Amino acid sequence: MTLRKLVAGNWKMHGSRAALNELDAIAAAARGLAVDVSICPPFTLIAPAAGRGVAVGAQDCHAADKGAHTGCVSAAMLVEAGASYCIVGHSERRADNGETDADVKAKAVAVQAAGMTAILCVGETLAERDAGRAVAVVETQLTGSLPESLANLVIAYEPVWAIGTGRTPSVEDVADMHAAIRAVVGPEVRILYGGSVKPSNARELLHVANVDGALVGGASLTAADFVPIVAAAL
Ligand code: PEP
Repeated sequence: MTLRKLVAGNWKMHGSRAALNELDAIAAAARGLAVDVSICPPFTLIAPAAGRGVAVGAQDCHAADKGAHTGCVSAAMLVEAGASYCIVGHSERRADNGETDADVKAKAVAVQAAGMTAILCVGETLAERDAGRAVAVVETQLTGSLPESLANLVIAYEPVWAIGTGRTPSVEDVADMHAAIRAVVGPEVRILYGGSVKPSNARELLHVANVDGALVGGASLTAADFVPIVAAAL
């Protein structure tokens, strides 16, 4: 089964209103291409980024609808601001905020209930890979964090040691991991690869079996880097 590819950019805590020029350039270049494109800017840029020709995503949300959760944002609030995707379980949030698989599952369920698509991140550390446990670790993360419904769900396989480091797994290791994830989620869920994707390696990574797109960090901040990655998905 061939799934339409998705290339999503995670701006993390980068960008200002001036950066929306990059988003406009990405929208212009991606218009009409048979690839889904999303940019996930910081919360403050979601509303001004919406409606400019690229699907907008958030980088996190709270699992609850509302309540005494100072500094947090609900999935429904993100929809109101214009988001249609929301990343959950990014390794930086798992590490910095102690998010567990159960937390990630609750967030994914909230994202789906609000009508968005959850981009659920999984991935092993270098120590886990070196110990030969990469696939087992990811399978455990999936067991603990997958929502009951696999509709409006995307998985992003992001080896923690590949994020922001310039290092990537071999295509064989990517193929093995994506096959293992496919065995869990079935044929209809898109599985993105993320971790140091750049214009020079995008074509190779995006055409590995069971790779249905990419989650891109640093190289999503400029149209000059991101547009060639989108084009490489074709
Ligand atoms: C990410 O943080 O989701 C990511 C993939 O980052 P980078 O592309 O910079 O490695």
